Amino acid sequence: SLPKHEANAVSPRNEESAVHGLSETIVGVLGGGQLGRMLCQAANQMAIKVMILDPQDNCPASSLCYQHMVGSFDDSATVEEFAKRCGVLTFEIEHVNVTTLEKLEKQGVVCQPKASTIRIIQDKYLQKVHFSKHGIPLPEFMQIDDLEGAKKTGELFGYPLMIKSRRLAYDGRGNAVAKSEEELASAVDALGGFVRDLYAEKWAPFVKELAVIVARGRDGTISCYPVVETIHRDNICHIVKAPAEVKWKIREYATEVAFNAVNSLEGAGVFAVELFLTNDGQILLNEVAPRPHNSGHHTIESCYTSQYEQHLRAVVGLPLGNPSMKTPAAIMYNILGEEEGEHGFQLAHQLMTRALTIPGASIHWYDKPEMRKQRKMGHITVVGPSLSNLEGNLATIIEGEKLDDK
Ligand code: ATP
Ligand code: MG
Ligand code: MG
Repeated sequence: SLPKHEANAVSPRNEESAVHGLSETIVGVLGGGQLGRMLCQAANQMAIKVMILDPQDNCPASSLCYQHMVGSFDDSATVEEFAKRCGVLTFEIEHVNVTTLEKLEKQGVVCQPKASTIRIIQDKYLQKVHFSKHGIPLPEFMQIDDLEGAKKTGELFGYPLMIKSRRLAYDGRGNAVAKSEEELASAVDALGGFVRDLYAEKWAPFVKELAVIVARGRDGTISCYPVVETIHRDNICHIVKAPAEVKWKIREYATEVAFNAVNSLEGAGVFAVELFLTNDGQILLNEVAPRPHNSGHHTIESCYTSQYEQHLRAVVGLPLGNPSMKTPAAIMYNILGEEEGEHGFQLAHQLMTRALTIPGASIHWYDKPEMRKQRKMGHITVVGPSLSNLEGNLATIIEGEKLDDK
């Protein structure tokens, strides 16, 4: 598409002149979905220029960014062309062409976080190998290449057994559970068969799922957000409660695991660390995302510095902000597509209209052109004096739906 403005990676003014505004670094974001959109919202407040690379002409970030280059973040030539226009490259999605990033880094392009981090994280199996080397507690895992191997792993880890696709997974779309040996073949088939590169994970008998957003600045400073509880439904993040209702010792331990995990990776930005809490007080790492994350949406309303502002500060090299909560409690509710098409839009509209009547509720609609079942279309955050108070408010909004379906 035609650039909205003439973009220059570096300021045209000479070096002695002062920076006009906060930062003149143009931030290039690979991906223009809802995370890119909310990055743009934070950037616009500070007049930081964000360029988006996304194949979809009308992607959620498109209308809010400084410039949108329509193209694939998987295509080498496109990413190279995009990088020329930016002062720093960052990501709203880890499923990008990492070989290109590594090549660009050698040419002096700044990627935050580093390409090495994206390489580790985009392959869940490599990610697990990396974290286990760094002493991070994880569910046991094993590569599986054929049905024989899967059966052996099942004998070793027991059932249910979680089978995962190594790459391109999101919203549980690369996961399949085998409840017994008989179900192994169908679970593998559901993921596209062994050609897809699969591995198995021991079932984590969690009582809660927790998440910690961890920020690292260009100078190496690390700062952790409060631990939250994430509630998934059909493998998709459904509700986030902040702060997590767990003993302070658990919070401290979860924060320590998250800190150590991020400390083992290279580069600046925010990272989301997904964790399992087991009934005997163990914390196991599920996965890390090298970018802002669904579990951090609540920070827009509930923290002094949102995860999006924090990410921008981190990648351009500004001081990090305060991650603490400025409200006692917050709950985030994902608006997922309930039905395809017009009726789906109607249901979402009704939900959001009900939310408008609730004090402390904020609505985020991502403006996705198409409504699909289970698709993340928007979210609602409610803030207030206590989680129990907010649970009541949320119940009013979602009417009749059960909040905590564990
Ligand atoms: P995301 O949208 O967070 O990127 P994803 O597709 O990468 O999701 P995972 O995070 O691997 O998927 O898993 C999704 C959910 O499935 C987890 O949040 C958890 O509820 C469940 N899950 C994953 N691994 C295990 C496990 N080993 N044992 C039990 N439950 C698991
Ligand atoms: Mg994931
Ligand atoms: Mg996950």
